[in-house]
Amino acid sequence: MIQLQNITKSFGTLQVLKGIDLQIGKGEVVSIVGPSGAGKTTLLQIMGTLDTPDTGSVFLDGIDVTRLKDKELARFRNQRLGFVFQFHQLLPEFTALENVCIPALIAGTSTKQATEHAKELLDYLNLSERANHKPAELSGGEKQRIAVARALINNPAIILADEPSGSLDSKNKEELHQLFFDLRDKFGQTFVIVTHDEALSQITDRTIHIKDGMIENVIGANEADEVNKAEDVDDNTAPSA
Ligand code: ADP
Ligand code: MG
Repeated sequence: MIQLQNITKSFGTLQVLKGIDLQIGKGEVVSIVGPSGAGKTTLLQIMGTLDTPDTGSVFLDGIDVTRLKDKELARFRNQRLGFVFQFHQLLPEFTALENVCIPALIAGTSTKQATEHAKELLDYLNLSERANHKPAELSGGEKQRIAVARALINNPAIILADEPSGSLDSKNKEELHQLFFDLRDKFGQTFVIVTHDEALSQITDRTIHIKDGMIENVIGANEADEVNKAEDVDDNTAPSA
């Protein structure tokens, strides 16, 4: 689903990413952890086509996005990717419902259809009562769940989140984390979540540790590795049996 090959990125003389190779399968929930300044946000932005690498390729859903032209890229991002940031980034002058609708309207969905789908999502997230409130009238947890609904409105294959629970209290944090897994189970989406939260990184399928612009280690099973292991077993047992 996500395939990064030899990603490097510098800002001026500072090399922030020093050759990242990473594969993430469909339906995986992966966390990215590491010290501040390690390059996590830069990596997520490149994965999300919001920034371009100096070298390397980014395949998303089988498409080499580094080769897409601006317009195609904007459409791809709008339809295939969902973003959740640490600070919700909802538009203050619009209601929760309107905020959720915006990516659908950009995609060309009719207002009627967008509103219907947004209402379904808000219902699913137990936010129906808050639909007509503006962000300033919502709690932190509610705003973050609205931001998740907005990320989901175009049924993206991949959700990228940068410290999504960083500004939430522990109860809201737990609810938001649980929501990611519920969504994966229900819709099969792939989640990549940059986080400082240990409780979250411990329950994700894999945890990628980034340090000084490199992958320091990876904790947890990789689906591809599991397949390889299964094949190895076959290879070993078949001839000698
Ligand atoms: P993390 O998310 O792991 O804290 P970042 O990816 O945000 O790390 O940043 C990695 C390094 O790159 C930091 O030293 C940061 O100051 C620098 N950096 C990030 N974005 C830019 C930019 N647009 N211009 C210059 N330096 C940047
Ligand atoms: Mg960051």
